[in-house]
Amino acid sequence: MSEYQKLLDKAAQVILNAHHTTAFTGAGISVESGIPPFRGKDGLWSRYDPNCLDLDAFYRNPEKSWKLINEIFYDFFGKAHPNPGHESLAILEKMGYLHAVITQNIDNLHRLAGNKQVIEFHGTSGRLKCTQCHQTVIYQPEYLSTLPPQCKQCGGILKPDFIFFGEAIPLDAYHDAMHEAKTADVFLVIGTTGEVYPASTIPWQAKTHGAVMIEINPESSSYTHSMTDIYLKGKAGEMLPALVETIKNHVSSEH
Ligand code: NAD
Repeated sequence: MSEYQKLLDKAAQVILNAHHTTAFTGAGISVESGIPPFRGKDGLWSRYDPNCLDLDAFYRNPEKSWKLINEIFYDFFGKAHPNPGHESLAILEKMGYLHAVITQNIDNLHRLAGNKQVIEFHGTSGRLKCTQCHQTVIYQPEYLSTLPPQCKQCGGILKPDFIFFGEAIPLDAYHDAMHEAKTADVFLVIGTTGEVYPASTIPWQAKTHGAVMIEINPESSSYTHSMTDIYLKGKAGEMLPALVETIKNHVSSEH
């Protein structure tokens, strides 16, 4: 058996024996859907002005911010579909081997893939929130036919329901994520550098509370050499389907 298959086997066994497996995802899981990370040479911020996610700039000139937000997070992200990495997490949830996904991503792809238990730590582009009456609505393209979009209830300006620079983490998401991290006995960390605070502390919570950590990433992260127990070095869109296949093989050989 190859080293690669041995590691997959070990990870599959750990998940099969777990009581509570949680996944934690970052920008890397959506790269194979065509959404680049924010930073780095080919990152989004090398093409677009990050100022569109500055809260003061948004309130000063919502129309200008919305033009760019629409282009990046609705026109561009809107063309992306879940890839085999997202789909594998939905399969694991359906099979009963994954309790929840905590994601730093705002692209809504875990829900589109079929995961039901998704904690959106930074919010989601899949909802819009009124800056005046705070009501949220599910995003529909017609909301963006005139910019800036307005609340149908009170006429206030709508903002994407994800956090802009300097905004606080949504309270419910923060508590739910920390609870998941403390409860999980297996923590699957996928496609994140672990450099965005406070999301970066979530795997540490899990580890401190005794979780076994499995990591999937083609490059090592700030966790790999300090706390990862099983490192599956590779792309999420390849490693996750291979992991699901290995789990299925174990299950069928036990029957
Ligand atoms: P990051 O941009 O800091 O790092 C991306 C990580 O993904 C790296 O470790 C990289 O090695 C890894 N990676 C690249 N290709 C991969 C693949 N095919 N499979 C698995 N891993 C792969 O991402 P981050 O740590 O999540 O932090 C960036 C912040 O930006 C997050 O807070 C997130 O909210 C936000 N963001 C979101 C999206 C999105 O919604 N899709 C996209 C870009 C950034």
